[in-house]
Amino acid sequence: MAWLSQSKLVLRSDVLEAMVNPPTVTQQIPILMYHSISSCASQRFRPNIVTPEALEEQLTYLEESHYTSVTVTHFVQAMAKGGYTLPSRPIILTFDDGYEDFYTQALPALRCHGFTATLYITTGFIDGTSRWLRAKEDTTRPMLTWKQLAEINANGIECGAHSHTHRPLDMLPLDVVYEEIVHSKKLLEEHLGQMVSSFAYPFGYYSDRVQQIVQEAGFASACAVRLTMSSLFDNPYALARLAIRPDTSVHALATALSTGCGPLIASSAKRVRRCLRYSVRRAYGRLRHSRVAVKYVRRRD
Ligand SMILES: [Zn+2]
Repeated sequence: MAWLSQSKLVLRSDVLEAMVNPPTVTQQIPILMYHSISSCASQRFRPNIVTPEALEEQLTYLEESHYTSVTVTHFVQAMAKGGYTLPSRPIILTFDDGYEDFYTQALPALRCHGFTATLYITTGFIDGTSRWLRAKEDTTRPMLTWKQLAEINANGIECGAHSHTHRPLDMLPLDVVYEEIVHSKKLLEEHLGQMVSSFAYPFGYYSDRVQQIVQEAGFASACAVRLTMSSLFDNPYALARLAIRPDTSVHALATALSTGCGPLIASSAKRVRRCLRYSVRRAYGRLRHSRVAVKYVRRRD
């Protein structure tokens, strides 16, 4: 509770600071994306972990550099107000999937540095293990429990949805996409007793229709990946994030935040390749859906 009241004080001073020194509309806003905070992983899952020591080092850097954290929902609400409710050096920390190590490793570190975060939870694996990571051979990673989530929520961390079973939504039939999105929101809201307004696409994959379903389901924002800085002009349903990897150094993080360049930011060529790959995926997804629909109609006939 002491930490909660402390963060309220921080927020008030931020608002005052923003009134005196409002962010410019062109300001780049960093949204960092973490997954598991752990030292152990299978070879294939290794790119998705950051050790507790590396997280500590990065949070220390952010605190010493006078960054102030806000949640994703705070950020998108600030977008609508031209950024006036943002602190002068905002940072958004996001953690995907809902591993138990968010509770055991990330939460104590965030509290210690006075940071908040947005946690995206895959609801179908709460109280269980990372069973969907079969391809990464890392299926026994403990996931958060509902009890831990309630405590995380009470500590001022925003809890967002990350679908129910962590499947690539751009490849699924639309009725399944709808169920994945709506069910995860409903479950979280029932257990946490409050509105859940932010979503993150599993694997960062989405299409225009998926984006539309997220919006229709009542979410106010959705995080993609995109490997670049976000801004007040970003699409609130495809927010850009920077992926923090096990080998991300504090120097690389500092370079990205201060210059918008460096190894954390995708080059133009990489962005074009990514765009093309996504276009091919979306076209394939549409083809698959139309074939499923044709088969379904034929079966009915
Ligand atoms: Zn994920």
